[in-house]
Amino acid sequence: MTKKICETIIKISTITLLASIIIILGILYDYFISMQFSQQKNELELAAQGVILNGEEYFVGINTKNYRITWIENDGKVLFDSKINANDMENHIKREEFMEALKNGYGESQRKSSTFAEKTMYSAKKLPDGSVLRISSTQISIISLVFGIAQPILFVSLCAVGASIFFARKVSIKTVSPLNRLDLENPLSNEVYEELSPLLVRIDRQNKKIKSQLDDLAQKNKEITYVTEHVSDGIIMLNKKGNVISANKKAKELLHCSDGNYYLDFCRNLEYKRTVEMAQKGEKSSCTLKIGDLVYRIFASCIHMNNDDIAVFMFISDVTDEENAQQMRREFTANVSHELKTPLSAIMGSAEIIKNGIVKQEDIPHFATKIYEEASRLLNLIQDIIKLSRLDEVGLKAEFSPIILGDIAQAVKNELCEKALKKEISIDLICNKSRIRGYLPVIHEMIYNLCDNAIIYNNKGGKVNIEIETKGNQGIFSITDTGIGIAKNEISHIFERFYRVDKSHSKETGGTGLGLSIVKHGAELHRATINIDSEIGIGTKITVIFPLL
Ligand code: ADP
Repeated sequence: MTKKICETIIKISTITLLASIIIILGILYDYFISMQFSQQKNELELAAQGVILNGEEYFVGINTKNYRITWIENDGKVLFDSKINANDMENHIKREEFMEALKNGYGESQRKSSTFAEKTMYSAKKLPDGSVLRISSTQISIISLVFGIAQPILFVSLCAVGASIFFARKVSIKTVSPLNRLDLENPLSNEVYEELSPLLVRIDRQNKKIKSQLDDLAQKNKEITYVTEHVSDGIIMLNKKGNVISANKKAKELLHCSDGNYYLDFCRNLEYKRTVEMAQKGEKSSCTLKIGDLVYRIFASCIHMNNDDIAVFMFISDVTDEENAQQMRREFTANVSHELKTPLSAIMGSAEIIKNGIVKQEDIPHFATKIYEEASRLLNLIQDIIKLSRLDEVGLKAEFSPIILGDIAQAVKNELCEKALKKEISIDLICNKSRIRGYLPVIHEMIYNLCDNAIIYNNKGGKVNIEIETKGNQGIFSITDTGIGIAKNEISHIFERFYRVDKSHSKETGGTGLGLSIVKHGAELHRATINIDSEIGIGTKITVIFPLL
């Protein structure tokens, strides 16, 4: 803008200067011509005095450098000429100045010289004897005038151009500097040119609009950042080239990636590579990624941006529990088939022998007993499997109610009384009215299984102590037996499904290997913890700690 103002001022000054010079030159030229005529007239007057006094003698030896002097008879015949021989000259009767002088006493005229492209000025005066004296001189031309005053004109022009450049710069800087100092953050606080007021008001309005839009954007950004940073899943956004544009905290923790990283820099898994590549081609894809003990599922999809660009959006979700549950289900199904096969095979074997009539009449009761025992085992197994799957189903749907642990323990003791008597085992129950919130069928099943095991894996004439107490906000159920005990290395496995310490004796005990699994599931459902303390040959103590109401 400074440059533009500067250029405009210089242009205007130069044009004004040129116009002034032309006008001045015109005026000067006119002035010089009139001056030249009046000077020539004065010279004519002096010469006329000389001719009147001295006659023809006046012209003898006359030296006229700048003028030409001509004496003309009243009939137009040239009597004397300072430049050319008078006899060689034509009659001057028709000359304008001559005729005017004869008529008015004085005459003037200007004519273009026939030889030179310059004008000659003529002044003529009628003398008392009727003759006419004429003086002529070459009129100054405009070019010679220009050349004559070229130096001062040039000097003045240069000074004027220099001054205009200097002032143009000053004026433009002075004009622009308040604009440069404008506080556009607070446009209305500026005190500059009045003409700028509407513009400043508009800028102020725009500023307010932009500020409110920015505030909205910042708020939305804050919300999105809060959500993405606190979400339990990882979120990564890749650009077209596969570099990370943004990643939330969880994604950075999981994949150790940071903004700008290439997607293969932090994970070299082939499935992951294929998933990203497919998303880059515009197809939705997913894969499973194992990181440490955890299993993650990556969902990738392509997002089309406004400017025809694409981005890959990745969602990393922790599916460890899901995967583990699936794995457990697979293992459970395999185990169930295996467990069911054993008694069924035994039943089929015995039934087949009877069917084929190979068995003697007296041996039939033996095979029938075998079939009965195996069928009971099968039934127990199926019942336990049903209990377990019900427990899975009940899960969070279970409706909890206040339960007095002691009442259930008493009921279980009564149920197992006969079984204990057979092995001459005494059951002692010490309990208070400790109340917990729980699901009655499950709590009953848990206590029943623990008491049942304490009898099954006890020695003849052994003891079982059941104790229920309250400590702080915990209801503690503990059962101690004087049985065979469990080896230290087996303790961590006994809660696994179908796990039995002594597989060879499971037929005798009638165990399914699911009892403690049900206890463990029940404990999880009630957020209870289980502690186990056991020693081979001495006995086992199992404690279940329930949170109180
Ligand atoms: P099972 O139906 O075989 O009893 P459980 O899941 O109840 O299955 O128990 C798993 C295994 O843990 C049993 O086979 C047994 O070897 C061991 N066990 C459970 N309770 C006791 C106990 N009180 N004393 C000794 N061993 C026990």
